[in-house]
Amino acid sequence: MPYLTEEQKKELAATARAIVAPGKGLLAADESTGTIGKRFAPINTENTEENRRAYRELLFTTDKSVAKYISGVILYDETFRQSTKGGKRFVDLLKETGILSGIKVDKGVVQLLGTNEETTTQGLDGMAERCKEYYDGGCRFAKWRCVLKIGAGRPSQLAIIENANVLARYASICQLNGLCPIVEPEILTDGDHTLEECMATSEKVLAAVYKALSDHNVYLEGTLLKPNMVLPGVQCTKKYTPEQVAESTVTVFQRTLPVAVPGVTFLSGGQSEIAATTHLNAINAYKGTKPWGLTFSYGRALQASVLKAWGGKPENVKAAQDVLLHRAKCNGLAALGKYEGEESAGAADESLFVANHQY
Ligand code: 13P
Repeated sequence: MPYLTEEQKKELAATARAIVAPGKGLLAADESTGTIGKRFAPINTENTEENRRAYRELLFTTDKSVAKYISGVILYDETFRQSTKGGKRFVDLLKETGILSGIKVDKGVVQLLGTNEETTTQGLDGMAERCKEYYDGGCRFAKWRCVLKIGAGRPSQLAIIENANVLARYASICQLNGLCPIVEPEILTDGDHTLEECMATSEKVLAAVYKALSDHNVYLEGTLLKPNMVLPGVQCTKKYTPEQVAESTVTVFQRTLPVAVPGVTFLSGGQSEIAATTHLNAINAYKGTKPWGLTFSYGRALQASVLKAWGGKPENVKAAQDVLLHRAKCNGLAALGKYEGEESAGAADESLFVANHQY
């Protein structure tokens, strides 16, 4: 019977804990080829393999002190296979810096028949073999993103159950192959729903996810959750304070997230860099029961101003790396509830919302 050995459990749990170590979080750099093209377009940078490699080299050769704030990086398959200009594999470079490599293993979303544009995520076929290759190549954790929507009868029960189940299948395959699964049921901010509606939906979605993980015998101590924060829809006219966001988010976890799970690595979900940091800080400063590491796994909210500073030009690499170090430090402080705000500058305050976001 395919049970995890004590040794496998120990390794998975250690990986999960290392990712959410106090004051540290993840850099999500797993944009698919299509998505990174959308990030490059505004800075007039062509979406070539060499430009993607050069950009990831910029991120990963940031001053080693970044490892005080960044415990791991999520890679895309192409990036996993790439190296620095000097020929060092990115995975090896990150390891030397003290940063864990993770890998996106899903293959994107497809529509569910008979629903209002709801989706499930594909990629289970052959995934065990891919996980084995990633583990042998130095990766220690994985990510799989499912997407749910609010409004017009959504999420349907079908979408909730199907996505919870596919996340559980993914998690069990990862664990059998030594990769700590990051379970990501993202509820999009598209729409005009209130904070309260997002809270109710988040509770139902997470309850289903943890039921499915239990049904699939997933070892919770060796997993992490990557959820949305509980936020109002981008078109909601009612405004909420960071403290209200924090209370709603933590309350949902109190109702659904087992204490056995070591931590939560939030996605930024289209929030501006400053909003994503401010909300993470409020969540950590919130005085309720929260026995989990609560930190960041940001894509857009760690990279928007880095991309802007780089502009695709080699002479800007150092300036862009300084921006990454700054954002990583701000989010590291927020993960401790010690972020004191900053002057908004450049991209930092701009909304990073993308309708019906793909990754
Ligand atoms: P954002 O922080 O840009 O939402 O992306 C994080 C991520 O990994 C989504 O899957």
